[in-house]
Amino acid sequence: MHRKNQGAVAEHRMKTGKLFVLSGPSGAGKGTLREHALNDIPNLTYSISCTTRHPRDGETDGIEYRFISREKFKEGISQNLFLEYAHVHEDFYGTLKQDVMNELNAGKNVLLEIDVQGALQVKAKMPEALLVFVDVPSVEELERRLRNRHTESEESLSVRLKNAIIEREQKDKYDYVIVNDDLENASKELKEIFTKS
Ligand code: 5GP
Repeated sequence: MHRKNQGAVAEHRMKTGKLFVLSGPSGAGKGTLREHALNDIPNLTYSISCTTRHPRDGETDGIEYRFISREKFKEGISQNLFLEYAHVHEDFYGTLKQDVMNELNAGKNVLLEIDVQGALQVKAKMPEALLVFVDVPSVEELERRLRNRHTESEESLSVRLKNAIIEREQKDKYDYVIVNDDLENASKELKEIFTKS
């Protein structure tokens, strides 16, 4: 009886969740695909990143991001608190190690939406993580989408386009590439990847 109980506890402990990582150029529709995945897939939770960038209109601390100062971010780096972090579009973004491990150990599947540098850091530390790259049909289409969003200055738009070109060069390192030319199809594809993995 005693041994059986111990076995049950050990089995429970071993049942950790899976880690999914979503990347792709900003404007590729990652955010929307992420929302669909979180709504449609049970037991999938999103890990809220830390960033030093300022909140955009409508963004709330603790919802889209934890908005923190550069000093606080650097403190986190020196205390080794980040599973990964990167300097993206002139700001720092990072995933807290503890957040992810707590969820995985509780048996939850965790979704990160992070840039390519961060995704490759995660893969190096946790090779079992599944990396999905959300691509755009072309850079021209990406520019059109970013302009339609009306959220970026001309300068920020040009930084994002340059980064998109660099990010797309790394997509072969991902486990899956989804081209988001039709949101419904892309969403279905992503759901299939997440649920069959
Ligand atoms: P935005 O400023 O548009 O919200 O995000 C800019 C970029 O930062 C996006 O490509 C997004 O995926 C990436 N990003 C967001 N959070 C993280 C993070 O925790 N780590 C890394 N490496 N990139 C992130």
